[in-house]
Amino acid sequence: MALDDAIEIINLNKIYAASGKSPEKKALDNINLNIPKGSIFGLLGPNGAGKSTLINILAGLVSKSSGQVRVWESDLDEDARHVKASIGIVPQEINFDPFFTPAKILDLQAGFFGVPKAERQTEDLLELVGLSDKAHAYTRGLSGGMRRRLMMAKAMVHNPPILVLDEPTAGVDVELRQQLWANVRKLNEGGVTILLTTHYLEEAQEMCDTIAIINHGRIIAHDDTSSLLRTIESKEIRFILDRDMSEIPKRLEAFNPQQQDKRTLSILYTPSEHPVGEFIDVLQKAGYFIKDISTEESDLEDVFLQMTRKV
Ligand code: ADP
Ligand code: MG
Repeated sequence: MALDDAIEIINLNKIYAASGKSPEKKALDNINLNIPKGSIFGLLGPNGAGKSTLINILAGLVSKSSGQVRVWESDLDEDARHVKASIGIVPQEINFDPFFTPAKILDLQAGFFGVPKAERQTEDLLELVGLSDKAHAYTRGLSGGMRRRLMMAKAMVHNPPILVLDEPTAGVDVELRQQLWANVRKLNEGGVTILLTTHYLEEAQEMCDTIAIINHGRIIAHDDTSSLLRTIESKEIRFILDRDMSEIPKRLEAFNPQQQDKRTLSILYTPSEHPVGEFIDVLQKAGYFIKDISTEESDLEDVFLQMTRKV
């Protein structure tokens, strides 16, 4: 394990056993991933991709089927205690006892992690997540966004070097999302390594320096955010030609040309780097008359399709 990795995952597999009418399910398919210390790392993928399964294995809530997980230099199989001490987890589902106050919840959690009373940072943590004035209010009176922030504080009671957030802003409105992001950034600036999962491209884009894309339990892309965005920003454009194309013009070869039939050619390109006129020009110079053009913006689903088509 590289010393500068906070988390290292090697050949990780998870198969959920069949139960009742549900068949066996391979949720993670040979995942390899390293998450550098100090980063804000995004695991991006659609619902059902395997994000929570991966997070829950890190959290010790789901057992892996095979593979190796190392967290802050400790192996999950050999030193689960140290792994647990190194990670704070904000799960996807929020639940609190509605009759406890935020201060009480943090205190109980600190006790659960064996943090001595003198070292507990209840007030500081509440301040960090903007809940100082709610310290002694019943949690049942807190808004969704406040609860989410309380979950973050709860995950940090034992001062772990890694904070893992599973879909932190699913169902949270835009303003609260900004607040949560600001809190996450503040923690990261304080030295905490962040791993977050999301199915919002925008969230990964705003927050993360590195992104891995997971689909059907497999990592299909893993790159720094700016490189990945260049791929994601690519658009598909389709030309309908007046006659059959026997040979694809050389200048289009780099754009992943696909022929649906002899008269339909589609390519992938990045508008910020190549104006469409460039391609029209190439086709016209090659002697084709363009009868129709259509383009498609890529959304997340397209990105997955493109990525799987490219590899
Ligand atoms: P995500 O968090 O990306 O939405 P999950 O990790 O929750 O994805 O789920 C990945 C796949 O594993 C899905 O097909 C889901 O139905 C299945 N799955 C998740 N948890 C269980 C479980 N406890 N038992 C059986 N199948 C599960
Ligand atoms: Mg999930």
